[in-house]
Amino acid sequence: MEVGVLAVQGDFAEHIAVLSKLGVKAREVRLPEHLESLGGLIIPGGESTTLSRLMTLYNLREPLQKMAVEGRAVWGTCAGMIMISQEITENDPVPLGIMDIGVQRNAFGRQVDSFEQRLDIKAMGSDPFHAIFIRAPVIIRVGNDVEVLCALDDDRPVAVQQGNLMATSFHPELTNDYRFHSYFLELANGNSNGHSCGNGSS
Ligand code: GLN
Repeated sequence: MEVGVLAVQGDFAEHIAVLSKLGVKAREVRLPEHLESLGGLIIPGGESTTLSRLMTLYNLREPLQKMAVEGRAVWGTCAGMIMISQEITENDPVPLGIMDIGVQRNAFGRQVDSFEQRLDIKAMGSDPFHAIFIRAPVIIRVGNDVEVLCALDDDRPVAVQQGNLMATSFHPELTNDYRFHSYFLELANGNSNGHSCGNGSS
């Protein structure tokens, strides 16, 4: 089973480095044919308006939508989460609409563009996860089939799963904690058991 990382823009190299530490050689995806036979794909953080334009330019939109419908694993982090959502609060960028969530970009305001927080995420085990938020989006609507893996203290979800699909507002690839990547590899291998979780504070 091979997995890929969308490598048109953003911090794809960091994801590839983590996967390689887990013993997985990930394929860099730039064109539709690179998606062939992949068990899963990570869409990294970066700048969603640019990602969106490049996806259109390289004819990646339809193949990515097809991949999700086929049940292969897709994980969007930060800008990647914006791109896999059903809708966002602005007209631009145009998301792929593959996960039943609504997303607000840059949800934490300019003066607090970045912050780090330890989150309890049951699906990842008992140790808190050190989450890095960089000009991060937040999830403002979750569909019926979407499971909230983790929410902030104000109940806004920041990690969600819908079967083979996963989205995180933050950047696990910037830490030395590989639990999300291992979890994604399980999804890519076809294990998408539901897990329930809270932020531990409620
Ligand atoms: N603010 C960026 C956007 O809207 C996302 C930032 C990130 O991926 N770290 O696309």
